[in-house]
Amino acid sequence: MNLPDIIIAIDGYSSTGKSTVAKLIAKEYSFLYLDSGAMYRGVTLHALENGMISADGSIDEERLKASLDALDIDFRATEDGNKTFNGDRCIEKEIRTLEVSSHVSPVSAIPFVREYVDSRLHSFGERKRVVMDGRDIGTTVFPEAEVKIFMTASTEVRARRRYDEMVAKGETPTMEEVVRNLEERDYIDSHREVSPLTRAADAFVMDNSDMTLHEELVWFQGLVMGRFGILE
Ligand code: C5P
Repeated sequence: MNLPDIIIAIDGYSSTGKSTVAKLIAKEYSFLYLDSGAMYRGVTLHALENGMISADGSIDEERLKASLDALDIDFRATEDGNKTFNGDRCIEKEIRTLEVSSHVSPVSAIPFVREYVDSRLHSFGERKRVVMDGRDIGTTVFPEAEVKIFMTASTEVRARRRYDEMVAKGETPTMEEVVRNLEERDYIDSHREVSPLTRAADAFVMDNSDMTLHEELVWFQGLVMGRFGILE
């Protein structure tokens, strides 16, 4: 099956498997996969490493704003797949820690941070044939996206996935920490003033609590076949 030159927006709650299905779609149809959360994580890592977030969680917004121009968060193809970079430094591993996860939602609720990330994401979308995942791709970043998916899954399933992922990477979180982090992020992401996480009116909902990855792909194929009148 061939897909037209479109933008596919995948939004949803934390750890619903957005990136897994987005990567699979990108591979299957030769689309570019872009992980918008990695950009927010990159900004958060930068703020943490430069002492802009204090122990009580407060953020030095003035310094963060002044330093954004010098940031160069980007995606690059490496032998090991696409990775997130800040300038020449690969930050892929560092941005996935629980420490970054626990500060990323307050950082990404700051309007100037969203402007910074949005302008970078837009430049990628111009070339179409892009699948992008995040929280506000179908509502704010690419409201004109031809295919919008909103993903959800039960908290237990999401927490187990995130826990297993972190343990596989050598981290040692407790299940309680993982659940708390997911719930906190969902709450902040859905309640912030700018671009809150919400389903676009024209997004199709996928609850993948009990779906295999293959079933998710078949679901997606059914959706685009119907949407574009493609016959198998
Ligand atoms: O997708 P991921 O879990 O890596 O995203 C990390 C965080 O970045 C989210 O919890 C959310 O706070 C923020 N984010 C966002 N808007 C996006 C993508 C991510 O606010 N489009």
